[in-house]
Amino acid sequence: MTTTTTARQTRSSVDSASEAAVQMIGVHKWYGEFHVLRDINLTVQRGERIVICGPSGSGKSTMIRCINRLEEHQKGRIIVNGTELTGDLKRIDEVRRDVGMVFQHFNLFPHLTILENCTLAPIWVKKMPKKEAEEIAMKYLTRVKIPEQANKYPGQLSGGQQQRVAIARSLCMNPKIMLFDEPTSALDPEMVKEVLDTMVSLAEEGMTMLCVTHEMGFARQVADRVIFMDYGQIVEMNTPDAFFKNPQHERTRQFLAQIL
Ligand code: ADP
Ligand code: MG
Repeated sequence: MTTTTTARQTRSSVDSASEAAVQMIGVHKWYGEFHVLRDINLTVQRGERIVICGPSGSGKSTMIRCINRLEEHQKGRIIVNGTELTGDLKRIDEVRRDVGMVFQHFNLFPHLTILENCTLAPIWVKKMPKKEAEEIAMKYLTRVKIPEQANKYPGQLSGGQQQRVAIARSLCMNPKIMLFDEPTSALDPEMVKEVLDTMVSLAEEGMTMLCVTHEMGFARQVADRVIFMDYGQIVEMNTPDAFFKNPQHERTRQFLAQIL
């Protein structure tokens, strides 16, 4: 009992931090003079699925990249799975082990096979034996429905297949939270569905997900909440139903009119 309390207190003094997957409290960020995130307040519960949309340049990527410290915030607090992100490198590593990220441009290593892409981090970061890492990789490649591609190189796969490899690769690290940054926007239209289907199945299994996407069908299908960002702020946050039926802000209405 005492140990638990102490551990919690040293990790974070914020109430219920241990319940939430992500807490952003009064977060600000600047790129030089440019104020890119302005007072972001967001709590994501475990198992919650959040979709983030908004115009290009509104700060969506920056916001989710702050969650695994690919970008550094300058003001406010970010607490991920009970660990507050500070300059402490050990904590950053701790957080990154639990947070998977999938980017628009897959970011696979072109000179490694699909299987090697998936086993690299488990072997080198988690010190997992190669055989075990390969078994786990095959399990996830099967789950994203491309086990037969394991020995090919990324360049031999379609964009949709490469993105599914990127998702499988993240899952091999057994993350508690998955961040997606426009995972389908670089894909040819016929490949979007196969990637979204993979994301839907992940959502149905209870993964905590923050997804930047303009796929509003996906938002309707799986999101617990939809966030609209503009000029570095969260302008609106609501259930998909309320968000699409009855947007509260003029900027949200204008945005939805453009993309729906
Ligand atoms: P979004 O993902 O919503 O398109 P971003 O978070 O990528 O928005 O970018 C928000 C703003 O910050 C944009 O105006 C962009 O040009 C700027 N920006 C992004 N990254 C950097 C950077 N590394 N240095 C300076 N400005 C940046
Ligand atoms: Mg972006």
